[in-house]
Amino acid sequence: MRSWRRWPRAPDRAASRVPDEPRRYQLDVVEAMERVVAGVARLGAERLPAAHARGRVLAAPVRSPVNLPPWNNSAMDGYAVRSADVARVPVTLRVVETVAAGAFPSRAPGPGEATRIMTGAPVPEGADSVIRVEDTDGGRDRVVIRDNRDAGRNVRPAGEDVRAGTDVLAAGAVLGAAQLGLLAAVGATEVDVTRQPRVAILSTGDELVPPDRFAEVVAGRKIVSSNGVTLRALVLDSGGEPVDLGIAADTRDSLRAHLERAEGADLLLTSGGNSVGEFDYVRAVLAERGAALDFWRVRMRPGAPIGFGRIGATAWIGLPGNPVSTMVTFELFARPVIRKMRGHAAPFPATVPVVLGEAVSVGADLTHFLRVALARDAGRLVARLTGNQSSGVLSSMARADALLVLPRGVRDAPAGATLRAIPLGDGVAFATAPDFASAAGSDA
Ligand code: AMP
Ligand code: MG
Repeated sequence: MRSWRRWPRAPDRAASRVPDEPRRYQLDVVEAMERVVAGVARLGAERLPAAHARGRVLAAPVRSPVNLPPWNNSAMDGYAVRSADVARVPVTLRVVETVAAGAFPSRAPGPGEATRIMTGAPVPEGADSVIRVEDTDGGRDRVVIRDNRDAGRNVRPAGEDVRAGTDVLAAGAVLGAAQLGLLAAVGATEVDVTRQPRVAILSTGDELVPPDRFAEVVAGRKIVSSNGVTLRALVLDSGGEPVDLGIAADTRDSLRAHLERAEGADLLLTSGGNSVGEFDYVRAVLAERGAALDFWRVRMRPGAPIGFGRIGATAWIGLPGNPVSTMVTFELFARPVIRKMRGHAAPFPATVPVVLGEAVSVGADLTHFLRVALARDAGRLVARLTGNQSSGVLSSMARADALLVLPRGVRDAPAGATLRAIPLGDGVAFATAPDFASAAGSDA
């Protein structure tokens, strides 16, 4: 909120001239990604019930007040014994009692004695081994031990997992299933996590209507603002809180009015209006409001007219309007920014090696991101184009598993060439079960 109020209210015409250094048109995509991520900071912390913290990043370490496991316990169903008593087998021992998981031994087995015990149950004092039941006759009052391969084994020592008084998770840990289970196990019902960014989403364009005005699309006068929908989904998917600013018309006044509503956002995503068209006013309106503009052009396709800047404490990413450009630039710039803001130490996307299932070629000297489907073949990931690669064609994006990267300088790549790809969505999954035995170091 504070930061937004620092915007000058009166439009300042002089400032609305956008600086025009040629260098800002020549940023390589990786340099631009690094600048965007370096230009934002991790947000502050909030305290949450652990039950609501899935996917969040710890802002402070969590210490355990208890040992895990809390007692020396049995790794097997069997008989707790002293290893000296099973030095020679077969041997018959007297069974002093049975201890199930959840129960406690009432006495220590003496020489020549054994305690019948179940997995997880506390191992009695004096016993240093649990002989698995399969190596015995299973007796209840007396037991014949036939094999002593378990001598000195199968006792899980107290604290082998977690020692009381030590940190179980460090600041920066991402709370997935294992981490949440660990928090529960050490009694951490509330945790300090980094806040999720509030991400304001503004679509721009006179041609756009929200999805509930589809009648105007049918009448042939408008198109649906699909970017509003894809961006909301991408923001949710990357752990931000979307704030829908709707659709601004291609006028300075409409843009100003809509941008007022971005007050309090950590990140502002605009789509469209960022190019060199006559009605592309986004940068100018931001500049007249005192925004510090960093760059607004990157040597990439799709997505060249991508901008980055800052208005007070709010970061701005100006995404191109074409629906695929919007999504590709979100993946490369907005998702890393959101990840950094929510505390991730690793904000950048993964790339995986893929083998081309067909030849690909591109025109311009730019980094290209092509929509591909991935298949598994003999332990390799095989990439094939999903169709028309025009930046407005969302249907080929809807079929894509990944973005194939053609770095600058690679104009043509033959079938069989190895390139890298950025998996989309949930990572990479397949219709067929994996072949675990395929060559070591393979990717599928
Ligand atoms: P612009 O960047 O404003 O020049 O827009 C480039 C292209 O993207 C044009 O064809 C627009 O109609 C289209 N476009 C812009 N914004 C959206 C949106 N929110 N949803 C769908 N298409 C859009
Ligand atoms: Mg437009």
